[in-house]
Amino acid sequence: MTDKKNPNRGFATRAIHSGQEPDPSTGAVTVPIFATSTYVQEEIGKNKGYEYARVSNPTRTRLEENLAVMEGGTSAHVFASGMAAITAMFTMMKSGDHIVCGSNVYGGVPRLFNQVLANFGLQFTYVDTSDTCAVEKALRKNTKLVHIETPTNPLMTVTDIAAVAKIAHAHGAELSVDNTFMSPYFQKPIALGADIVMHSTTKFLNGHSDGLGGVLVCTKAQHKETFAFVQKCTGGILSPFECWLVLRGVKSLAVRMEQHDRNGREVAAFLNAHKKVKKVFYPGLPNHPQHSLAKKQMLGFGSMITFETGSFDNAQKMLRKVRVCSLGESLGGVETLISHPATMTHAALGEKGRAEIGLTDGMVRISVGIEDVEDIIADLDNALAAI
Ligand SMILES: *Cc1c(COP(=O)(O)O)cnc(C)c1O
Repeated sequence: MTDKKNPNRGFATRAIHSGQEPDPSTGAVTVPIFATSTYVQEEIGKNKGYEYARVSNPTRTRLEENLAVMEGGTSAHVFASGMAAITAMFTMMKSGDHIVCGSNVYGGVPRLFNQVLANFGLQFTYVDTSDTCAVEKALRKNTKLVHIETPTNPLMTVTDIAAVAKIAHAHGAELSVDNTFMSPYFQKPIALGADIVMHSTTKFLNGHSDGLGGVLVCTKAQHKETFAFVQKCTGGILSPFECWLVLRGVKSLAVRMEQHDRNGREVAAFLNAHKKVKKVFYPGLPNHPQHSLAKKQMLGFGSMITFETGSFDNAQKMLRKVRVCSLGESLGGVETLISHPATMTHAALGEKGRAEIGLTDGMVRISVGIEDVEDIIADLDNALAAI
């Protein structure tokens, strides 16, 4: 049911029931983990739709049905990690094709592009996609895809999805959106014109920091055919157990995202008022340069916050003191994770690459969990006192 006033009307019900119907043979309310590599065939050429588990597995089929519904796509294809999903997406390309990519995306993405895919003759241009004129200027005759993340990692810059979709389509290119930071609960890229939505399910979709995964949600029959074929050909698929973990995780996505958002807003306000914090990057703050676009395009602001401590030493001092927040890479779990992008997620960009996008050594990124927010704030307050 779509409701103009509340686009999330029915979301929690879909998350819990789409693809999650009781098992027809036993009545089990949770989708079984089909731990099998192959399927018995009645006779030559006669099977129940499953032949070999690299091609398809019933647990995976259920998750793919669920994720397609949640993102409003026509099909979904899950892979062993977010990076495996992105890699699969690029098998659509041919040598000589050009891709426009956001200049401030997950650090593993430019690493894949520059150090692996460039060797296959693909060309990449990086632009600040929050500047729609820059996107337009970067497009060439051979541009096949514009790939964006919004908000970006870790600078939390917001890109106008509808505007970029229009520009890409006018030039015959497709738009893919990495929706990992927002989850389908807070941002609906397909409704705004995206052709492909990508997620690292490792993060909010799974939500419990206990499995890796990635998904491509598609809008066209051609994508479905290509990505199902790629799953079969390259084999970087998600295991039945990890499919089951994500099916479990998405059941609580709506309530988790609501709580992540509430806690995120409180922690951002706390950091914004703290005298040791030089700057806070969070689209929910009125001082964020794209706050009004964020309000229009997103249904919540989420729980990803980056803040400037002023120097590497300051970041080091505070990160040594955190106790409730866990120092580590990744995000989107129920527990608060805190990280240092310059030496962790964005180390591969190099000093020059980081300077170009304005990522400093004093920046700290926090993925606010769903613990009691008073405890998260007290922990940060105590850690900031070390500066
Ligand atoms: C983590 C992440 C990825 C990569 O996903 P993996 O599951 O770690 O391979 C891609 N994009 C974003 C925004 C991420 O946070």
